[in-house]
Amino acid sequence: MRRFAKSFTQQEALSEDAIEAAVAVMRSGRLHRYNLAEGEQGETALLEAEFAESLGVDFALACASGGYALQLALRACGLAPGDKVLCNAFTLSPVPGSIHAAGGEAVLVDIREDTTVDPEDLERAAGESGARFFVLSHMRGHIGDMEAIVAICEAHDIVLIEDCAHTMGAAYQGRPSGTFGKVGCFSTQTYKHINSGEGGLLATQDAEVMRRAVILSGSYMLFDRHLAAPDAESFAETRLVMPNMSGRMDNLRAAVLRPQLAEMARRRARWNALYRRLEDGLARMPQVERLERPPQEDFIGSSIQFRLPCLGHDTIARFIAGCEARGIPLKWYGKALPEDYTSRYDSWGYLPATRPLPTADRVLATLCDLRLPLTFEQEDCDDIVALMSNAMDEALNDDEATSNDAIGAN
Ligand SMILES: *Cc1c(COP(=O)(O)O)cnc(C)c1O
Repeated sequence: MRRFAKSFTQQEALSEDAIEAAVAVMRSGRLHRYNLAEGEQGETALLEAEFAESLGVDFALACASGGYALQLALRACGLAPGDKVLCNAFTLSPVPGSIHAAGGEAVLVDIREDTTVDPEDLERAAGESGARFFVLSHMRGHIGDMEAIVAICEAHDIVLIEDCAHTMGAAYQGRPSGTFGKVGCFSTQTYKHINSGEGGLLATQDAEVMRRAVILSGSYMLFDRHLAAPDAESFAETRLVMPNMSGRMDNLRAAVLRPQLAEMARRRARWNALYRRLEDGLARMPQVERLERPPQEDFIGSSIQFRLPCLGHDTIARFIAGCEARGIPLKWYGKALPEDYTSRYDSWGYLPATRPLPTADRVLATLCDLRLPLTFEQEDCDDIVALMSNAMDEALNDDEATSNDAIGAN
């Protein structure tokens, strides 16, 4: 059987300028973000300043991971132990995990057919729970109805925190993702849009939230070494009341991130070209239902999702196995147990009983997902579609064979 030869988890090598910047940090020995020579600003502080500028906000903070950024955001926004936090039913496990770690209790909100959060159910969940926080995940890069979501949060006095792990560099109605809520949280983990292995970023316009986040992140009393934070004098009160929850970024990671951030527009164009090519190919498979993408959304197609709503569980299982045999690790959210990065709310067993989530149950049962690393070429997309079509034909033929068997047995 012909197999697709490339790896879906192979990212691009770091560019030479990123490697040189990293080597310079290693030669200096000053890897800790606050370890600066006379007159030096430091890679981490510079990354924060450049990231804030890219979003058009005043403040940004780099930290240990995307999940850690979410925890910081919740704590900095005033989450108290036991507080309820709304959260999409379809998101990645670090999101409910960060709510749990910050001491909150996740209240799941149902999704729409396009996998984004359902504003009607958000309104309902807000009313039922009285939650004061909403961690909105732009899961797999899909940005929901931001106008409706923001309006509901305002009406219910809910603090909106955006999880932008898949929307760094994306926008909605021309406004950067991560600037709709009080805080936007981002990940620089290898499979996101810029790669430092691990890492996170947080962005806000709120000076007090930023001061708290800086102290929480483990700034000691060195907050005057930040370039995208409020004035050092304004920390007088905050510095004496916020705990230090060590989770800083280091200069080595920041050094490799800065050149990648500068490349974002070009990356977006390359990702979207791959995405469109694959999407066009999938459109020729009648079983595949693409997710609608609203015109307001200026997304980054670093992964693609589609549904197989007309196929039964066994047929999808055979299709997935056929793709796997052809070197295509298609992820399916309908499997009994989560695998790899798939994550379904019923496997977050530490949550209290969840609200009914009928659309999430139905949509996830047939939802599939593929990563699109930038190491792929346009032609690879055609190859992937051809192999997936073969796998589909095989799965459907097996269906026929089984039903013929059943007839024969009568
Ligand atoms: C990756 C991811 C995160 C967390 O990022 P880490 O840096 O791995 O902690 C949060 N939300 C979503 C949707 C993600 O995919």
